[in-house]
Amino acid sequence: MPAEKLPDDPSVAEMIGWITARYGTSKADLARMFQTTQSTIHYWLKTDNISYRNLRKVRSSFYYLNNSRDPHADERKCEECGRWRPVADYRDGKAICRACENRKTLQHYWENRDEELKRRKAKNWYNRKTG
Ligand SMILES: [Zn+2]
Repeated sequence: MPAEKLPDDPSVAEMIGWITARYGTSKADLARMFQTTQSTIHYWLKTDNISYRNLRKVRSSFYYLNNSRDPHADERKCEECGRWRPVADYRDGKAICRACENRKTLQHYWENRDEELKRRKAKNWYNRKTG
């Protein structure tokens, strides 16, 4: 398969499916290959849900076996916006990028602000009625 035909963001199932079809690897082989258990492999295939650390392992194997290099080798996919971003765009231990983190903080601020305004309005209305 020529390098340019490789998808840049295949699912875990696609990558493992390709490895299995090409090399006839069993679940036990895959578990050894990725230093995990067969039930974890089964879980990945079924849910496409995989940790960042394990995704790195699967991706590097997939691209290596395709004689290619991972186009997102130094990046991580943001769980919020779904974009691949440089690892430096994430705070330690965060699965969402700084841009998304900032947006969420701002959104939280505006939501609180709306609540505050509503409270104040209600209070003014009450004071006017009774004052
Ligand atoms: Zn993001």
